[in-house]
Formats: sequence, C-alpha cells, structure tokens
Amino acid sequence: MKQVHKTKRYKRHFICFKCRKNFKQPNEKDLAEKDGELSLLLNAFYFSKPKKKISKDIVAYLNNKYFRQTINCPECRTEMVEVSMSFETPAKKYIKKWEILESHYRAEGFIHNSLPNKMKDYIRLLENSHKWHIQMLQNAENHKAYGESSAEAKTRLQENIAALENELKKLC
Ligand SMILES: [Zn+2]
Repeated sequence: MKQVHKTKRYKRHFICFKCRKNFKQPNEKDLAEKDGELSLLLNAFYFSKPKKKISKDIVAYLNNKYFRQTINCPECRTEMVEVSMSFETPAKKYIKKWEILESHYRAEGFIHNSLPNKMKDYIRLLENSHKWHIQMLQNAENHKAYGESSAEAKTRLQENIAALENELKKLC
C-alpha cells in the first residue's frame, strides 16, 4: 500500500499578556480541512489563479471564520495577540519586559520584536512616535494607506495619536 505523507503546516503563534506565555494554535488551513472547507479557503485566499470562483458572501464568511475570529488563551480565556514566528517571547519572569510589550501594543497596535528594556528609553520611543504621527497628520494627504481617502487617513492618524497620548499619560 502506498503511504501518503502529509506536509505538516506551521502553527500560528500567539501570546497572552496576562499569563505571560506563548501558545501555538492550528493553522487556518488545518482548521478548514477539518471542516471540509479547505478547497474554498485556498480558492478564496491563496491561489493566484483560483480554480473556481468564490462568491463575495462566501469570502466574507471564510474571512470571519478563519482570520477575524479572536483567539482566547487556553489557560485564562483572555484574548491573545498573534505574533510572527520569529518573535522571541520573553520569559515569564521578565515582568517589566512584558509590561513594555503590552503597553506598546496598546499604544501602537502591533507587536515589536526589539523594544527598549528601560522605561525611560521606552517612553522616549513613544514620544518620538507621537511627534512623527503629529507630523503625518499635518500632511495626511501624503500618508494615505492603500485605498484610503484623506479623511480616513486623518481619522486613523488621530486614533493613533490618541492611543499614544493615552499610554504616555499612564507612564509619565
Ligand atoms: Zn492567559
């Protein structure tokens, strides 16, 4: 009998700020395979030349189910944050590192691989980012994201600035 070797898919990596741990979660393709939706998922998101056309409704359904779903910590049920596979999760005992990591996520909305260890340096980083965002806001027309209108860019930058100010207020 011929043996079928299945290529193993990578796991997605998440961190929980509350438990200060990382957790691996199944790849969306593995989940779709289990639910018999792999072919739909591949055609909707992965094939550069889809073998069949997937309707808009199905694309939205798949997007919600496989990409937009919040993933909760298996231990404390808090919502986790996805990190890249190269992200080096700090050891649980480095509480300050975790505080800075979480604060930066609240302020900037993404996980940064190499943040300063000292609070003073970290605050300076946020202050610089705040200045930079103010400059971008004054010139929002030149800082539009793909498909964004000027008004949308302004709103986004104002939200970024508010989040940075909020975090700086807590720290200073
Ligand atoms: Zn947790």
